[in-house]
Amino acid sequence: MTLTEKILARAAGKSHVTAGENIWVQADVLMTHDVCGPGTIGVFKREFGPQAKVWDRERVVIIPDHYIFTADSKSNRNVDILRDFVREQDLPYFYDVIDDPAGSWKFDPSKGLLQRQYGSNYAGVCHTALPQKGHTRPGEILFGTDSHTCMAGAFNQFATGIGNTDAGFVLGAGRLLIKVPETMHFRVEGRLQPGVMAKDVILHVIGEIGFDGATYRALQFDGPGVASLSMDDRMTIANMAIEAGGKNAIFEFDARTAEYVEARTRLNGTKSTYEPVLADRDQKFLYELVVNLDQLEPTVACHPDPGQRKKAKELGHIQLDRAYLGSCTGGKTSDFVEFARVLRGRHVKIDTFGVPATPEIVGELQRTRWGNRTIWQILVEAGVQMTENAGCSACLGGPVDTFGRMNTPMKCISATNRNFPGRMGHKESQVFLASPATVAASALAGCITDPREYLN
Ligand code: SF4
Repeated sequence: MTLTEKILARAAGKSHVTAGENIWVQADVLMTHDVCGPGTIGVFKREFGPQAKVWDRERVVIIPDHYIFTADSKSNRNVDILRDFVREQDLPYFYDVIDDPAGSWKFDPSKGLLQRQYGSNYAGVCHTALPQKGHTRPGEILFGTDSHTCMAGAFNQFATGIGNTDAGFVLGAGRLLIKVPETMHFRVEGRLQPGVMAKDVILHVIGEIGFDGATYRALQFDGPGVASLSMDDRMTIANMAIEAGGKNAIFEFDARTAEYVEARTRLNGTKSTYEPVLADRDQKFLYELVVNLDQLEPTVACHPDPGQRKKAKELGHIQLDRAYLGSCTGGKTSDFVEFARVLRGRHVKIDTFGVPATPEIVGELQRTRWGNRTIWQILVEAGVQMTENAGCSACLGGPVDTFGRMNTPMKCISATNRNFPGRMGHKESQVFLASPATVAASALAGCITDPREYLN
């Protein structure tokens, strides 16, 4: 069996499963957020009754992160609906925007968009927060009401996005009927070269198979090259499996995985026991591709979908209006470090926005010094508009007052993960997906630029 099949078989209580089979699997964790949480709760109450209790309060994780820093009252209300449900169900894992459990969330635009407006429990973007807060464990099943839930596949976990109806059912029953996906195999070899990042790996892969090339399939990444990829790198790659239509992505378990998970579960006091899945000899793959990291170059997915792959060095004719660094896939500490490495001592030519994925990342960037400057200061001095309000922000557009949202037609280079028309705001805007290094170089030049031009 493939890694995905092995996890699903275990969760179904079976010794063996095959692709295409429909099976009931036990959920280990269900995650929901402010956009889908209220709908999920509605389905749960309608189907299980107004007095029903969730199947296991320790396994439900609720992370408001999407439409948070906006004066839009309906968006603010969604966070309050989550808080009411958490109080009713006595759920331990709720990463609220405010500290008062009886309070109500209201964003204050008069304080501006840059200054922190959240309390001490807020965790930021759900997919980045889940591992940081110790909720991702090898060998487990994670369902989330968000398509980029697949990011947790970096941790040798079966993680996939589900809709509100399925999530409402999982809330009550703790299990779900799913079809075992076929597996596509990506054997990773070599090492990333300077100026090339994990984002280039996944943009390359999606360019190879097309933005619907993995529809309802598992993407398995293994091979000798994986050892050189950090957990952040693996998260970046797994995150975008859905941009090729994938059901999930999964990486092999190794010492790096164990180190990360053990540190995070210890730090947060979450469940620390787990059982990874290891590769069988007799795996059957639908498709195989060798990804040689040595040969990859800075890559861009052009408007209007993530499969429109080109090399950054071929796109110098595309003039840009805006650059954006942020999101679950592109707003991690390591993303900002590579961004700053290119920008240090220089100044951007176009409007450039930086949105860390989580408050923890804000803290790391504000504490880490390069010489007499923090990374945060280096970015601000380079002209980047850095907000402390970690969250999804303009990655998915959001209400019109969202930080970094494109409210007029423009061209933006972005380290986010999705570029269908309208994704970051205005329907006539164009989004070019690229690595943090390529976003930085392009922000300096005002046109799409290979970051190797700025590295020596
Ligand atoms: S940062 Fe973007 S892709 Fe990630 S969860 Fe938020 S909206 Fe979705």
